[in-house]
Amino acid sequence: MSAARTVLVLNCGSSSLKYAVVEPDSGRQLADGIVERIGAGPIADHEAALRAAFDELSEAGLDLDSLGLVAVGHRVVHGGPDLYRPTVVDDGLIATLETLAPLAPLHNPPAIVGIRVARKVLPDLPHVAVFDTAYFHDLPAAAAHYAIPRDVASQWHIRRYGFHGTSHQYVSEQAAVFLGVPLESLNQIVLHLGNGASASAIVGGRPQDTSMGMTPMEGLVMGTRSGDLDPGVIMYLNRTAGMSMADIETMLNRRSGVLGLGGEIDFRQLHRLIEAGDADAQLAYEVYIHRLRKYIGSYLALLGNTDVITFTAGVGENDAAVRRDALSGLAPLGIELDEHLNDSPARSPRRISFETSPTTVLVIPTDEELAIARACAGVVDS
Ligand code: ADP
Repeated sequence: MSAARTVLVLNCGSSSLKYAVVEPDSGRQLADGIVERIGAGPIADHEAALRAAFDELSEAGLDLDSLGLVAVGHRVVHGGPDLYRPTVVDDGLIATLETLAPLAPLHNPPAIVGIRVARKVLPDLPHVAVFDTAYFHDLPAAAAHYAIPRDVASQWHIRRYGFHGTSHQYVSEQAAVFLGVPLESLNQIVLHLGNGASASAIVGGRPQDTSMGMTPMEGLVMGTRSGDLDPGVIMYLNRTAGMSMADIETMLNRRSGVLGLGGEIDFRQLHRLIEAGDADAQLAYEVYIHRLRKYIGSYLALLGNTDVITFTAGVGENDAAVRRDALSGLAPLGIELDEHLNDSPARSPRRISFETSPTTVLVIPTDEELAIARACAGVVDS
């Protein structure tokens, strides 16, 4: 059995529990898995899901008692206005998280359930909450504010919080490591393109803007979310089409984006449909790329000089066509993708621009579990 210390990382959704066992010091991931369909069949609730995860671990020869666990790290989507450092969970923190539930009604409640259950099952370990919004806490005021009346915004804690922060931070730090230069020296754009998708502009390790806002619905076109939308559409659907706010929310979160336009969520399948001549799939892809290029362009303007553009997450790491179409024709702006490098699949961090390209383009696999485990280890050490 390994003698190195480990962290159990948990990411609870309403009907799923993702887990990973990670050595924060070596970066090695010993195991990971997902328990799905919580509430249906034999997995009655999140506690049953966590116990099922432990069963899977022991079947894999990983016994909880000999794993060397030093902490449990919980991914929490929304930290609200005040929570941004990795924080040891106590009853007070749970109470604070509960007051934040209205800000992230789809995401925070299941995380709270997960924290409660894990504390009950593993009472002797420190539990640490790591917030998806944390990295963007200090966005410049110009990027953090919506142009709505200030009294309304401050009374209701409305600001642009940003999400996927753990990934944007990890990937931008890895980009500096890969290039062998100090993080402080780089102007970066990070494109996190998974089912959820977000972009960020980062100067010297400090984020200057990001595409998600008060909720993870703003910004890029995503697997099932619309991204940017004229708020007038929501009023119109409510007032004129008679849709309830709950129905509109569900539509914009679960039935929109690439799925809503093209009938498919997975980009591999979307490409197959496009090849077969499916016009809806083609449109979905074009809208997705158009929005992505708008954000890239706006961040190029924000940064002035961009050293690195990095693609990450499921689509960003695997879909060469998306990367090509996102950056095609930008040689006049100093972005020269090497088609050959871009088309070569690989699992590790890599450069996909020509060596002579003024802006370096990278693909770097994200590892939110490792980043959360390291954040937990940092809390345990301090
Ligand atoms: P999540 O936001 O759920 O963490 P991921 O980052 O795992 O999402 O991304 C999942 C998405 O990545 C899939 O829906 C699919 O569209 C895309 N994807 C995964 N593998 C490939 C691939 N080989 N080629 C193109 N797209 C891929």
